[in-house]
Amino acid sequence: MAAPLRSIATAAVRSAARVAAPQRAFSATPRALSAETGINSLHTFSEEENMMREAAARFANEKVKPLVTKMDEEEKMDPSIIKGLFEQGFMGIEVPEQYGGTGSTFTSAIIVIEELAKIDPAVSVCCDVQNTLVNTLFKTHGTEAQKDKYLTRLATDTMGCFGLSEAGSGTDAFALKTRAEKKGDYYVLNGHKQWITNSAEADLFLVFANVDPSKGYKGITAFIVEKEMGVQIAKKESKLGIRASSTCTLNFDDIKVPAANVLGEIGKGYKYSIEILNEGRIGIAAQMIGLAQGAYDVALPYMFERKQFGQEIGTFQGMQHQYAQIAVEIEAARLLTYNAARLKEEGKPFIKEAAMAKLYASQVAEKAASKAIEWMGGVGFTRDYPVEKFLRDSKIGAIYEGTSNIQLQTIAKFVQSAYKK
Ligand SMILES: Cc1cc2nc3c(=O)[nH]c(=O)nc-3n(C[C@H](O)[C@H](O)[C@H](O)COP(=O)(O)OP(=O)(O)OC[C@H]3O[C@@H](n4cnc5c(N)ncnc54)[C@H](O)[C@@H]3O)c2cc1C
Repeated sequence: MAAPLRSIATAAVRSAARVAAPQRAFSATPRALSAETGINSLHTFSEEENMMREAAARFANEKVKPLVTKMDEEEKMDPSIIKGLFEQGFMGIEVPEQYGGTGSTFTSAIIVIEELAKIDPAVSVCCDVQNTLVNTLFKTHGTEAQKDKYLTRLATDTMGCFGLSEAGSGTDAFALKTRAEKKGDYYVLNGHKQWITNSAEADLFLVFANVDPSKGYKGITAFIVEKEMGVQIAKKESKLGIRASSTCTLNFDDIKVPAANVLGEIGKGYKYSIEILNEGRIGIAAQMIGLAQGAYDVALPYMFERKQFGQEIGTFQGMQHQYAQIAVEIEAARLLTYNAARLKEEGKPFIKEAAMAKLYASQVAEKAASKAIEWMGGVGFTRDYPVEKFLRDSKIGAIYEGTSNIQLQTIAKFVQSAYKK
């Protein structure tokens, strides 16, 4: 059993204190420089962030890895994984400790998402949606009562969903048709949502519905909906990749939602969803860099074991150039992702950088996974090795939280405003 993060934190802080003196002796100059200027490389992390990485990597390798193939084949997340994610504090990474969360940073969440994706991108997205979309919306727009009631559950034992997309409104999200009609002190919800991640396991749903279609997108409002209020979990999609992550249709048939369960302001749902997806994209970029590294980490050792013509295949120049190229691209995608995360944390503009990170990381993930298959020859094409799964999983990076076309459009807008007279 991997130790919970809080006990790891304490142990790691103690052991860091023990080795503090020799560490300083080795890195006195760079530390002094960064302390003076505040300038660090994008590979500089706080002690807590490093601990989160170690804990996530350990959990992924010890608990997730043995179940990856089974979960993929059965298209189902093992309950022990969900339980473990909560126990480790990975489902409430940025949630303040007063609500039962880990009280850590956005970059910590990015790191955990990345580490989980190295082993299983399906587990990674489960953690990603909970942290970067659902919890953050509660944290940012919830009332104190809503945070007390719901954020505590989300951080400790309850899976949440982000329900925006519908059959007729994907990229054009604000064409949504789910309706919320005010009746006294509650709203009546009617409609459906499609493609909702984590919905088979969730008990809490953030649902975007229109309270006044005559106002167009300015009627869109976010509602906190409990499963018990009557949410029907309908069709579960059978997918190409991230098969262990549930993706279902939700039906709302005259569901009564208390007016107290409006999240934030009436009519501001469109704004909240744009804002949260802008930052959520950094999470998907992290999932994709983890995936790329995961495929790479499987293929490279194989290349130094497998011999042809009496030589390890990884020592042929034709192979060296290929894996060197992919190493560069993974690193570039990683730096785009970390940079976007740090910009967001620093309160600086990050929308263009987040779009770049997601776009590029998803391209690199697909390429790295595809190359990993080629590098391993016939065995790479079989289910005996996980690289074929990484390729299947990589395709989603170009689709959810804004397709690649939409990322390009966002980037183009920034470029145009900088250059067009
Ligand atoms: C596995 C999975 C999990 C998901 N999880 C969630 C979730 O938890 N919550 C949620 O709300 N949604 C979720 N989604 C929905 C996802 O966000 C949408 O699938 C995505 O936004 C694309 O919408 P669409 O599928 O309707 O495609 P469409 O919008 O029909 O797009 C089809 C193609 O047309 C292109 N296109 C559309 N409009 C334009 C344009 N203006 N300019 C250029 N090209 C354009 C797109 O780029 C794409 O290539 C999930 C989807 C999947 C597959």
